[in-house]
Amino acid sequence: MNKSILHLDLDTFFVSCERLMDSRLIGIPVLIGGTSDRGVVAACSYEARVYGVHSAMPMRMARQLCPHAKVIRGNSQAYSKYSNIITEIIRARSPLFEKSSIDEFYVDVTGMDRYIQTTYLWAKELRDEIIDETSLPISFGLSTSKTVAKVGTGEAKPNNHIQIETGYEKSFLAPLSIKKIPMVGNKTYHLLRRMGIEKVRTVQDMPMELLERVLGKNGIAIWKKAQGIDNTPVVAWSERKSISTERTFEKDTTDVYNLKSILLGMAESLAYQLRSSNKLTSCVSVKVRYSDFQTHTKQKRIAYTSLDHTLIETVQELFEKVYDRRVLVRLIGVRFSNLIGGSYQIKLFEDSFKMIKLYQAMDHLRGRYGEDAVKRARGMRARHVKQMNPFNGQMDGEIIAPTPKAEMRPKLEVPGLRV
Ligand SMILES: [Mg+2]
Repeated sequence: MNKSILHLDLDTFFVSCERLMDSRLIGIPVLIGGTSDRGVVAACSYEARVYGVHSAMPMRMARQLCPHAKVIRGNSQAYSKYSNIITEIIRARSPLFEKSSIDEFYVDVTGMDRYIQTTYLWAKELRDEIIDETSLPISFGLSTSKTVAKVGTGEAKPNNHIQIETGYEKSFLAPLSIKKIPMVGNKTYHLLRRMGIEKVRTVQDMPMELLERVLGKNGIAIWKKAQGIDNTPVVAWSERKSISTERTFEKDTTDVYNLKSILLGMAESLAYQLRSSNKLTSCVSVKVRYSDFQTHTKQKRIAYTSLDHTLIETVQELFEKVYDRRVLVRLIGVRFSNLIGGSYQIKLFEDSFKMIKLYQAMDHLRGRYGEDAVKRARGMRARHVKQMNPFNGQMDGEIIAPTPKAEMRPKLEVPGLRV
């Protein structure tokens, strides 16, 4: 049986949220992102795109291209709130859905034709409900695979929808620019252009082996996508999708200073794992198990983030709340859940720009020298969280007990980096 996959994507999501909060922004060019010279455009309205502005562009350049644009810092709390409202609407109606980023969803509607008139009608009703409830513009593509549905959404925008029926996938993709194929980033695009490839049709007509020779495994994947072949499943999204770590003490303890510094190290390590997997979390929980095996957990919803300082602060706040007995502690743990893809939001806030630069420098060192290369001094006691792929289900990391050696390790000297 053919699959039926729906892809939904909010149009200029951040800008649309800002317009809900301030109607004066409707119809004018809007730039969201860092307002300093070093800031980056996190999002922009269609009115700004006309001037050649696009996201990830330096803010200074965007302002030169479109000097009369209104520049806004961004408000990740508000965007997270609207994202959650839309998630709940989709959850209530859908048999199986995946939230792939803050404003993007896939729904597997395979077989629904048997119960309702057509899946296309069902998708339109879902879209109408989202627009009625939130007043946010949203587009969708409906087809037989994630790739074709997503490309469809892109073609339907702004504020519209499209269906690519079985058998028409290849001809739908053929006239489009190869840039439209998900996976074809800037680098690949320019490489393909140098080979004289501009339209998807050209890739469709060439032997797969040729693309493989130039791009390796990616070449095969791109060639298949260009044919409209994509069997990637919609992976059920749930609040439980999480990464976590916990530690059982050999000897039960009431050393609050020690407990706090271990939690800090855990938060720091999990945040690094989020960033390395290009994920954000919006729910933090802290668990304490006492020596009598009573287990207390507290959790808090926050705006989507992967930044240490926000996550550490939340973990510490939760620990203060959950640690309310003066009893020996047997185990502590930290969990980040409600994970979604995407890291572009990280560029949003100018006040954390320096912080982001610091994280990038730290992550770079960890990538090169191992996760222990840099740590906050305060979190030194939690030395190491076992490396693993945190996103293939439920699993726990492992904190290895601190050794004196860890503290004695020579510090890495990096110019301009203080940790
Ligand atoms: Mg979008």
